[in-house]
Amino acid sequence: MRRKADVNDQAQASVAPDMVHRNLIGGRQVPASNGETLDVLSPVDGKVFARIAAGTAQDVDAAVKAARSAFEGEWSRLTATERGRLLVKLALAVEAQADALAALESRDNGKPLRQARADAIALARYLEFYGSAADKLHGDVIPYLNTHFIGVERVPHGVTGHIVPWNYPMQIFGRSVGAALAAGNATVVKPAEDASLTILRVAALAREVGLPDGALNVVTGLGRVAGAALAAHPGIDFLSFTGSPETGTAVQTAAAQNHVGVTLELGGKSAQVVFDDADLERALPVLVNAIIQNGGQTCSAGSRLLIQRGIFDKVVSAVAERFAVLRAGRPEADPDLGPMINQAQQRRVQSYLERGKGEGLSLAASGGIAADAPEGGFYVAPAFFAPVPHESLLSQEEVFGPVLVATPFGDEAEAIRLANGTAYGLVAGVWTRDAMRSTRVGRAMRAGQVFVNCYGAGGGIELPFGGFGRSGHGREKGFEGLVEFTTTRTLVIAHG
Ligand code: NAD
Repeated sequence: MRRKADVNDQAQASVAPDMVHRNLIGGRQVPASNGETLDVLSPVDGKVFARIAAGTAQDVDAAVKAARSAFEGEWSRLTATERGRLLVKLALAVEAQADALAALESRDNGKPLRQARADAIALARYLEFYGSAADKLHGDVIPYLNTHFIGVERVPHGVTGHIVPWNYPMQIFGRSVGAALAAGNATVVKPAEDASLTILRVAALAREVGLPDGALNVVTGLGRVAGAALAAHPGIDFLSFTGSPETGTAVQTAAAQNHVGVTLELGGKSAQVVFDDADLERALPVLVNAIIQNGGQTCSAGSRLLIQRGIFDKVVSAVAERFAVLRAGRPEADPDLGPMINQAQQRRVQSYLERGKGEGLSLAASGGIAADAPEGGFYVAPAFFAPVPHESLLSQEEVFGPVLVATPFGDEAEAIRLANGTAYGLVAGVWTRDAMRSTRVGRAMRAGQVFVNCYGAGGGIELPFGGFGRSGHGREKGFEGLVEFTTTRTLVIAHG
């Protein structure tokens, strides 16, 4: 296991004092209630370099209480403009620290430096977007009886819980916690045990820019302990969860006991549909990048290519050529992809590769691992399988790694059937020069976002994002994401 609670082992000696991190509860940096910590391994070399608090149910309870008192106190006394200004200040602080945050993320998470920097800049943009929107969110006046005035106010839920995965910690913190704070909620965040450090750093910056104590609390630790305690806490008024479908079910089930709403952002098996009139020069680099970005550990990765039969061989060999030269390596060297997040994920991807070969699928191309990739890191060589039947495991299940499959189709109807033919429905791509077809096919996709002649895996601060089916429900990002963190209060005033 990548993380384990062990306060006395040898590894502790190798951790620099500034790399021992505490929870942030009510504005104070505190250790876990039982004093336990978890090792933080870098996926780059598999070595321990930091420690985080192994948060307990008691810590979560303290964080929820701190959030409640901020919500009933100082935080709610601020105007929307004042709240927004604080978030914009935090955005500027994050931007100023983008290089340091990127270096920390790269080490903690293994992503190439340029991706980590892009994540830090995206976080700053989320905070700027939601901070600027805080005082533009307003309700309605409803015409009713002439003797009554009806106002519908947009109000925060109260205390919101945020369970964040390891693949894009800064971006997911930005879109979820940024929106919740802008709407006036007080928040409790549980980062993923495999990538907590940048969120802790950003929470410390939030204190420095003057966010009132308790408005933002962070409890690190294991999902089954701290995450489960947050999902089940009766003091939480709304939950935002991003992660796997299985954990999403557990979180929603726990939240149902307290009758609170949940936003679930789960996985995907997103298709890119390439018609025979597509601009291939434009498409090819995007088709490859959509699966290689972040080592394929992206919920909206373009993990399936659906290619029209007449150009199937041509596109497969062009993609294969690009795949063959891809290299996984040290993040600081800015390779095509870094290591997988942990050993379990590395093994999971390798087992999918074995199962694909076991199914008799043909490997069209395989990338490599850079010669200087450190021993002990969790590297996997990218793999491209083609042709792959639509029913195959690799076409249906989310691998969450650098594994791409290609399937041929005949006509438009078949393309739509295959694209919509998994349990997921997060993102889709359509490549064609035919304007009418692009709109027709785009509108037939069962996906929360559809890109035509482009593909935005993970991108789009301003664009509503979320899934159908096993990809989850609710929307984050954009103005719609802000509205999710509010509910309404209707005031009926009789005046005549
Ligand atoms: P995960 O479900 O294992 O963990 C996500 C978070 O949930 C972590 O913070 C973890 O500690 C916590 N957690 C684990 N068990 C818990 C429990 N019983 N109760 C409460 N919290 C618990 O997922 P992961 O491995 O971190 O992320 C990979 C998955 O997330 C993939 O399936 C991916 O597609 C999905 N994902 C989706 C999006 C999206 O926006 N749709 C974004 C990123 C990741």
